[in-house]
Amino acid sequence: MSSEASAPQVTVLAGPTSVGKSTLSRYVRETYPQVHFSVSATTRPARPGEVNGEDYLFISDRRFDELLAEDAFLEWAVVHQKYRYGTLTATVEEALSEGKNVLLEIDLQGARQVRAKLRAAQFVFLAPPSFDDLVQRLIGRGTESEEEQQRRLETARIELAAESEFDVTIINDDIERAARELIACMGIELTTNA
Ligand code: 5GP
Repeated sequence: MSSEASAPQVTVLAGPTSVGKSTLSRYVRETYPQVHFSVSATTRPARPGEVNGEDYLFISDRRFDELLAEDAFLEWAVVHQKYRYGTLTATVEEALSEGKNVLLEIDLQGARQVRAKLRAAQFVFLAPPSFDDLVQRLIGRGTESEEEQQRRLETARIELAAESEFDVTIINDDIERAARELIACMGIELTTNA
């Protein structure tokens, strides 16, 4: 069916809060260096160990405003009612012009914006095996206050309903398999024996 295999493509990975998107992304980064991640800009401060320009471009609110005024974002959103995150159009265009398949790991609001702009992109929804699993992940992680947990669960409940807007669903119950499915969606051929 897909004989136009060689054009580099944009793949958007989104899913409900706490589904394990960043854990899957980290695993993919470490295991499959051939995957090119788009580095987002954010007003969130860096966490210990995060590297500017690798994990995110950590920028000020003022700089974010400037980029907005320049219409530099392919998409952007306020996530968890706190910080702003955005994908720079230039980052994606640069990767595509270099022939790289590019992965955007973004939230649902951003995925919808990309959907409206890049019809040819591939949209992958990362789903938990069940809602209970999501609750366990969020509580087990223990990084948010109880109030924040409740807020995120409410968000997650709404976000789970968005699955039907996506081209493909990957169930995040086994990280190795989920990663392989994601790679396959991106049209990347595995050269390792993973
Ligand atoms: P964190 O602060 O934990 O790294 O990320 C929080 C959330 O922001 C995650 O759901 C992540 O997918 C989302 N996110 C990261 N980068 C972007 C981006 O460029 N655009 C949008 N819309 N969401 C993003």
